Amino acid sequence: MIVNRKKFIKTIGLATLAALSVRSKNLFGQTSNTNSSSNPSKSNSVIILGGGLSGLYAANLLKKKGVQIQLVEASPRLGGRILSIQNPKDQSMFDLGGEWIGDFHSLTRKLVANLGLTLVRPNWTSGPTLWDMNKFSLKSKENLEKLIEYQSKIPNNQIEGLDKISLFRYLRYQGFSDMELDELDLVVKTFYGESSKNISSYALLSSLESKKSLFQNFYKVEGGAYQIISKLVNILNSNDIILSDKAVIVSQTKEGIEVILESGRRLKAKELICTLPAPAVSQIKFEPGLPREKIYGLLRIGYGKIHKEIIELETPILSPEKGEGIIDWILPSNNNYATITISEGRAIALENSNSSIAQGLLAKSMGAKVATSFLSLGQSREGFGSGAVSIYNPSTYGIKEELSSSFGPIHFAGEHVGEVSGTMEAAISSAILAVRKIT
Ligand SMILES: Cc1cc2nc3c(=O)[nH]c(=O)nc-3n(C[C@H](O)[C@H](O)[C@H](O)COP(=O)(O)OP(=O)(O)OC[C@H]3O[C@@H](n4cnc5c(N)ncnc54)[C@H](O)[C@@H]3O)c2cc1C
Repeated sequence: MIVNRKKFIKTIGLATLAALSVRSKNLFGQTSNTNSSSNPSKSNSVIILGGGLSGLYAANLLKKKGVQIQLVEASPRLGGRILSIQNPKDQSMFDLGGEWIGDFHSLTRKLVANLGLTLVRPNWTSGPTLWDMNKFSLKSKENLEKLIEYQSKIPNNQIEGLDKISLFRYLRYQGFSDMELDELDLVVKTFYGESSKNISSYALLSSLESKKSLFQNFYKVEGGAYQIISKLVNILNSNDIILSDKAVIVSQTKEGIEVILESGRRLKAKELICTLPAPAVSQIKFEPGLPREKIYGLLRIGYGKIHKEIIELETPILSPEKGEGIIDWILPSNNNYATITISEGRAIALENSNSSIAQGLLAKSMGAKVATSFLSLGQSREGFGSGAVSIYNPSTYGIKEELSSSFGPIHFAGEHVGEVSGTMEAAISSAILAVRKIT
């Protein structure tokens, strides 16, 4: 959401971004760790809830500052919504979760570089892309650009009005044709797992502003996005991390924070960073209870659903193709492999059906192209908990600020409170802001 983007840039400040980049270079580069004593932290112990990108990055930043951390992850694996799988036939890697990194995702790009990883462009970027601008009249293209530009300068007293309408309805009102609206909707579903009919026009226009590079230059991590997770984990000690146990109670005490895990184990620290997605936060018992506005925010935020399958094709395809049936897109990978993307309720239905029904549905939707095999079927049907990425429905203006505000020594991070919504960039930016509140 742009409101957060504006505030984020203001809060973090350009000078801070520069300083952070120097710090992260020290952290992830080969230079020695000399900062912890010269820049002592205010808090010497922090519990981090969630072992996805946001939690792991926060853990790394805090360790760098000499802070003692304990990271709690409910599932048996780290990475959360980032998961890469290997094709047993040719050892190539595919991403079932976070994958694409846009030109403007500067924090992610910097982290990837500092971790010694390489970004690669898909081999079809020179050909047709997801965003078929030929479907748009010249006037509509100009109008869309103007609207994106307009929302970044919109006076505060008009933001709420724009936020109350979905982008689909707003663009229809602006004179976009049905074909243009459908094209836009398909791309929106692919990135957010939700229709533009259900996303606030203010939130979506602002997100498009920062995502525009995705439609031109986008990259992926060579060897899969999970490389980021592996590198971040390598910097931590194994006793910093508690796996397969989940936080159920978070209490504020005189000394700071106490967390009770499902196993009954108790953890204590001065402060806590909670990086869990909104539905998981609302399952935790906070003592004292969270402020009412924050609870409303947690309950109002939505999650779009994106499901990916890796398939082996009978006939190679060279550039993205629109899918049929339940499939939104078929995106070619290497050789005869492709990632198919399914969004919204169709993704939920697929994940809830048994393997043979799912395979039948996919095979039918592939039509003449005929998938010879489904590499990820099963793994990807585990799903990603509550959904793929956070969705700011119409009339949700202001809730991101509410959700990201600290509650005493409890600080909130995670994709849904970061900038740019729905991306790894958001997970990273939220971690940076939470850590800054502590150190
Ligand atoms: C299919 C899909 C496609 C995507 N595509 C892209 C893309 O192309 N580009 C992009 O930039 N982003 C993409 N994303 C989004 C990106 O992956 C996420 O924004 C990012 O990984 C979120 O990281 P996070 O740490 O905020 O949250 P998560 O990864 O969700 O981490 C939260 C962790 O908390 C754990 N947890 C939950 N409850 C508890 C509890 N009570 N106690 C302890 N732990 C708990 C969960 O198990 C999880 O591991 C995609 C996501 C999905 C699912």
